[in-house]
Amino acid sequence: MRPMRSEHAEDRSRVGEREVDCTAETKGEAMSDETATHERPATTPQRDDGVGDRHAPDKSPRTANQEDGKVTRRAEVSNLEIVHHYFDRAADRLELADDIRAVMLSAYREVQVQVPVKLADGRIHVYSGYRVQHNGARGPYKGGMRYHPEVDLDEVRALAALMTWKTAIVNIPFGGAKGGINCPADKLERDELQKITRSFMSKIDKVLGPTRDIPAPDVNTNAQVMAWMMDEYGKTHGHTPACVTGKPIALEGSYGRESATGRGLVFMFREAAPQLGLKAEETRVVVQGFGNVGAWAARILRQLGCRIVGVSDANGSLHSEAGIDVDALHEHLREGGTSNDFEGEGVESIGAEELMELECEVFIPAALGGMIHADNADRLNCKLVIEGANSPTTPKADEILNDKGVFLIPDVMANAGGVVVSYFEWVQNLQHFRWDEREVNDKLGGIMRRAYRQVKERCSDDVPPRVAAYEVGIERVVEAAQTRGYI
Ligand code: NAD
Repeated sequence: MRPMRSEHAEDRSRVGEREVDCTAETKGEAMSDETATHERPATTPQRDDGVGDRHAPDKSPRTANQEDGKVTRRAEVSNLEIVHHYFDRAADRLELADDIRAVMLSAYREVQVQVPVKLADGRIHVYSGYRVQHNGARGPYKGGMRYHPEVDLDEVRALAALMTWKTAIVNIPFGGAKGGINCPADKLERDELQKITRSFMSKIDKVLGPTRDIPAPDVNTNAQVMAWMMDEYGKTHGHTPACVTGKPIALEGSYGRESATGRGLVFMFREAAPQLGLKAEETRVVVQGFGNVGAWAARILRQLGCRIVGVSDANGSLHSEAGIDVDALHEHLREGGTSNDFEGEGVESIGAEELMELECEVFIPAALGGMIHADNADRLNCKLVIEGANSPTTPKADEILNDKGVFLIPDVMANAGGVVVSYFEWVQNLQHFRWDEREVNDKLGGIMRRAYRQVKERCSDDVPPRVAAYEVGIERVVEAAQTRGYI
């Protein structure tokens, strides 16, 4: 085994102060097969704005998120910078050598394709599709597909790296990947989405497959999108259900997959609650982002006896001290209603920033990245944050919450429930054998509890759960890469 000591570890705590040897040539050599798609070298952005230094201000929030003051503003610190910052902190503590860091920080393969599509307006629109395979030392690449106008190569890189650490922390045999298309999914017709999905899949299927890279749903993609992907993949490769996960039940999807990420957050709550003296029936919860993850987490927590006093989505925020009937809200949204026109006992509409200030025991960010930042972290009024979204907390906000004594369960562990049940779906597909929902949920609970306890063992006054989790993940990936002789 090579030494993990870094000569400059103490100088590397700030984003932008690393050197990554990742030229086009070195990436080309690392590839084991040919692809016809356009592949670009990974680059590490250089920053000089002091992320990690809490005295330097966050950049101004993204204008895309400021419409009508309805939607919470996000910090303009990118997800990639957030993920690299947390990686560096853990890598410093592990005294990881510089050359090993360079391998761990850069992606194995990055694919960008053009997705031209004729939409209902009769015009051809050109979107960009991405797939980044970050690290496959521990198994086939695994990660979601996101459809959102803000999807770009850096965002996908960040999310792919996060998947590498996540699959390692929960100890399932996958590497990390992510993909997406920069299309406005919420403004497109179903037929248009299908065309875009098929066009994208037909261009990247060469780098995918059950033993190579297995996509899953993420923001604005769902079981239907996975079904189209599987069908398109099958045109060239034959019927291959294990090529994607998060499929509909009718197409060899797994019971329990849709609820898995939200349920995983609840397992985290159940582990942390005794430590923090919380009892479900006395716990008030606020959920930011009432989509797949947030709605399932809210509904299962309510079944446990928690009171959901605030929820929000892209259209608005709701508050009720008596507790929001989140099952009724879920049904209302499913039937085409919006959060703005939902009525319930004591339910009032509030501003997005107000939602973040609501007094509660548990705050669950389950929308997009960077929502908890230097400008609003101090206003959070909770004891426990369980990160459902990926990278919802900027490094500065993380420090502020830590100083306030808020206990935070990080994304890399907390929201791993989805990929764990994706793993179960892949296993079931390979065996052509289906487990019932109870078996899926029980096995999910076992893995989430084990991950929580292993990370907790690493925690101390100086080592918060996020750093401990990254340490566990990085160690496992480095060990796998070294043992198989990749590095
Ligand atoms: P989704 O599209 O189903 O839900 C996202 C929700 O966030 C929607 O209700 C949307 O209206 C809301 N939203 C968007 N912008 C908002 C804003 N500014 N303020 C408040 N709400 C806003 O997506 P999802 O699958 O639930 O994913 C949510 C997050 O969880 C993402 O960060 C995703 O990467 C992460 N995640 C998802 C999974 C999964 O299995 N789906 C797994 C791990 C992590």
